[in-house]
Parts: sequence; structure tokens; C-alpha cells
Amino acid sequence: MAQLIDGKAIAALIRAEQATRAAHLKENGIEPALAVILVGEDPASKVYVRNKARACKECGIRSEVIRMSAETTQAELMAEIERVNSDPALHGLLIQLPLPAHLDEAAALAAVDWRKDVDGFHKMNAGALLEGEEGVRPCTSAGCMELLRRSHVPLTGAKAVVVGRSNIVGKPMALMLLEANCTVTICHSRTRNLADIVKNADIVVAAVGRANFITGDMIKPGAAVIDVGINRREDGTLCGDVDFDAAQEKAGWITPVPGGVGPMTIAMLMKNTLDAAEKHGR
Ligand code: NDP
Repeated sequence: MAQLIDGKAIAALIRAEQATRAAHLKENGIEPALAVILVGEDPASKVYVRNKARACKECGIRSEVIRMSAETTQAELMAEIERVNSDPALHGLLIQLPLPAHLDEAAALAAVDWRKDVDGFHKMNAGALLEGEEGVRPCTSAGCMELLRRSHVPLTGAKAVVVGRSNIVGKPMALMLLEANCTVTICHSRTRNLADIVKNADIVVAAVGRANFITGDMIKPGAAVIDVGINRREDGTLCGDVDFDAAQEKAGWITPVPGGVGPMTIAMLMKNTLDAAEKHGR
């Protein structure tokens, strides 16, 4: 039976660490602050933004939620990004995705001052990750790495398989596992023999967005299984991409959904905000 990786508990520890850092900064006259731009009325986005603001409060980070209407023009959005960029009292800027379809997401992300890019999505930070340099690491993949490290999962030389290749999760995840000296394979919708590839993995990270995509028979005995997926069942409850009940019989470590990667994403956002305030705050 797998050891359960309790993301909720680990995230609480990380938030407590950030609260200590925030208190130190305040003693030195810097109040760490995060701006969040929320465009439109997407209900899931509203929940995420509320949870982020709540985590900020717990960590002693001031948060400023900038709510913009669904009809916001690109020019209005860019002006707001510029306003936050030039405000020295705001150390982090997050644009809640997805933006309404008429807005250019890539242009918005590129406009964020990379020093305030606490999501780690700016090309400067993506490039730093690619080249193994210091930079802001994307929150979800950084959170997965923390879960692996704090659970003492052996990384060096381990065979890691990442299922999913999005810019937000799959690709940075693969690069961070590589940075930790894993031997990394990335699978996607065109991968042949996906089940056979996953069966060989010491570490499996699932970031697909399909319930029960990773079945129990795909798990190598003793593997670490990190489930990034968030899917809603017909009854409204949440589940990940992994068939949890079957996989936990074979895995060495496994994350639940909810209570696994999700809380870590927000905890790492807090860490990235404190990093930005410490490095660039005045
Ligand atoms: P995307 O939809 O951007 O990417 C999904 C990836 O899965 C793609 O690379 C796609 O391949 C791949 N995929 C889809 N179908 C298959 C298939 N049949 N076989 C193999 N690969 C497949 O999603 P995200 O990366 O943004 O998110 C993934 C999941 O993680 C979602 O459920 C999302 O809600 C969740 N998530 C959770 C977070 C958290 O904090 N816990 C944070 C962010 C996301 P291809 O590129 O070939 O199309």
C-alpha cells in the first residue's frame, strides 16, 4: 500500500515558512504584496483567486485583486499590467488564466515584468528553466518537486514519465525533473504505447485532464505517482487523472485529489511572491 503524500499538510508547512519570511521583510520595511488580475466571470477562476487571496492573508502578504469586466479590451488589460509593473509596492503580478477568448493571453503574459512574474510563465523565466539558471519556477511543477523531495522520493537517476506537455504544467515539470537528474520521458496525445512507457516509470506525473486515465496496471510497483489532474465527476466531486484506488495498491507513494498537488500550487505562489519581494522589493 502506497504512502499517501499529504499535499494539504506539506502546503500548510510551506505557507508557515512563508509567513516567517514575510514577517522578516516587514521588520525591514517591506510589505510583500501580490496583484492578481481577474478578467471576466469564470466561476472556477473566481474560486482560485479567492483561495489565493486567502493564502496571502495567512502568509502576511498583501493582495490586491484587480477585477476587470469580461468586455475588457486588450489595451485596457495591457494598461493595467503596466500600472502594476511600475508600482514598486507590488512585488508579484499574476494574471488568472484563462482570459476571455477575445484577449491575447501570450501578449498579456509577455507584458508582465519578469521580476514580478510569480507564475513563472514569462519567457525570461521559461528560458532560465530551460538553461538551468536561477529564475521563477512555475508553481504547479515546483509544488510537485517539493512533494517528491519532502517525501524523500529518490530522484537522481530515476526514470520519470510526465504525461502532458502543456507550457503550464507538463513541459516545466519535465525540465524540473531533468534538473533533479531524473531520466525523463514526456508523453502526449500522439505517444505510442503510452501504457508500456508509464509501466517503466519510477516517477509518474499525470497532467492530462482526464479521469482514470492512468490505470492501476500501468503503475510499476513502488513508483511515486503525482496526480496533477483536476476533473469533475458527474456527481460534482473532484478526481485526478489517476485511478487512485487501484494505483495506491501498487505505488510506493501517491498524491490524492483533492489534497495533493492543488494546495501546493498556491503554496508555491506564496513562495514565489516572497522570493520576488526579497529580491526586488524596496
Ligand atoms: P492541457 O489541456 O493544456 O494539456 C493536457 C495535456 O495532456 C496535453 O499535452 C495533451 O497532449 C495531453 N493529453 C490529452 N489527451 C491525451 C491522451 N489521450 N494521451 C496522452 N496525452 C494526452 O492541460 P494542463 O496542462 O493545463 O492541465 C492538465 C491537468 O492538470 C488539468 O486537469 C488541469 O485542470 C490540471 N491542473 C491542475 C493544477 C493544480 O494546481 N493541481 C494546476 C494546473 C492544471 P497534446 O499536447 O498532444 O494535446
